[in-house]
Amino acid sequence: MLPDVARDAGIIGAGGAGFPTHVKVGTPVENIIVNGAECEPLMSGDQWLMENRAGEMLAGVSAVACEFEAKLKKRPRVVIGIKKKYKKAIEVIGSAISGSNMEVLELPNIYPSGDEQFLVYEATGKIVPEGGIPPMVNSLVMNVGTLVQLNDALGGAPVTERTVTLGGAVANPCVTSLPIGTSFAEIIPQLGPLVDDYVILVNGPMMGRITEDLSEVTTKTMGGLFVLPKRHSHVRRMRRPIATEIKLSKSVCEVCRYCTDFCPRFLQGHSLEPHKIMRVINYDRDLDTKTITSAQLCCECGACDLWACPMSLSPRVIFREFKKKLNEAGIKNTHNNTEPKIDPQRKFRGIPTERLTARLGLTEYDIRPPFRDNPWNVTSVKILLNQHVGAPSIPIVEAGERVAKNQQIAKIPDKKLGAIYHASITGMVTKTDSNSITIEKQ
Ligand code: SF4
Ligand code: SF4
Repeated sequence: MLPDVARDAGIIGAGGAGFPTHVKVGTPVENIIVNGAECEPLMSGDQWLMENRAGEMLAGVSAVACEFEAKLKKRPRVVIGIKKKYKKAIEVIGSAISGSNMEVLELPNIYPSGDEQFLVYEATGKIVPEGGIPPMVNSLVMNVGTLVQLNDALGGAPVTERTVTLGGAVANPCVTSLPIGTSFAEIIPQLGPLVDDYVILVNGPMMGRITEDLSEVTTKTMGGLFVLPKRHSHVRRMRRPIATEIKLSKSVCEVCRYCTDFCPRFLQGHSLEPHKIMRVINYDRDLDTKTITSAQLCCECGACDLWACPMSLSPRVIFREFKKKLNEAGIKNTHNNTEPKIDPQRKFRGIPTERLTARLGLTEYDIRPPFRDNPWNVTSVKILLNQHVGAPSIPIVEAGERVAKNQQIAKIPDKKLGAIYHASITGMVTKTDSNSITIEKQ
């Protein structure tokens, strides 16, 4: 059974969310949508996979389609959404699927075309309900990297590496495959940083985060690392403290509603109107209002702050803070309209990715890096046990034990949602605790 294969291989959504794949492929739906949009600026790992491992990706999605067909007694529709700009990937995949019942959907070069709710609408014309997920409209969205991993799993290989884009202000940018748990300290010097005073952007500039901690490690959901000068405007923007965000908002929000006009959730008919929430927050209203609780519908895409707001305010960051407060206060989402209506302006409000990259001041790093396939010579890995959605995994190895690459080292707690982990290098376990397992190469 495919869910067992996915669970035993430790597959979780490679697109960033980290939801365990065995649960996703255990729920049959009529529409399988492959996410090849890669809409975050600077990323090109999925593009490389679609051009170079298309056969494996298609075998992965075929396996899911067969699994669903057996349960539904009906062949599901398979739509492969690829960014229009990825001409070679469209050509490679288009010719590989010719004569099959799969189809390629060319997606506009806009942000956030990789948002799964955006993709569901583009592929099926159905709108995911407020606070809902794609299976509620008979759809499943899977990232190209996850499907390649699923194919590897069918051949007996668990997830121990992932394809990442490494770039920014470095001499040797590349797309490459890295063992899970590799420390940034082992990666960044090999890229040749071009600035002394730098930070690392983890994942893309829209939904990623900034760190200076070189002891951090790669995970199954990490798609890219980018070296940026510490003084870069985007870095300073992303590091603005929440107290400053709120003060700025109270001082200069002009309730112009541009944040709402570009909000992808508002544009698909959800009752999320960022400008109204900002107004309520700016006047220190109570938490439990219909307007503030609509912040729970925010997917934190960043379109409001990093593109729309003329005052450089950050509704997204403020909403994140308020979502935490709502959660702590036990206030649940009360917005669950199951029949939202698309805003007629939606088709005009996509954010052109190249313009967005320029707005972020990142055009100079927007390149297509070559693939690096020479080994990284990783000396140790620290495998985090909470890379997925669900309960942290439990180590099944102890310090002092020798492990081989691909060997299972952590299990899912009984009756919990979770993921299995495997050794990504051969070596000696030097430390285990409830958060991680460290393996030194020997
Ligand atoms: S776009 Fe900016 S200034 Fe305008 S309403 Fe939204 S947060 Fe306020
Ligand atoms: S981050 Fe902003 S634009 Fe994106 S969903 Fe949330 S409120 Fe809407």
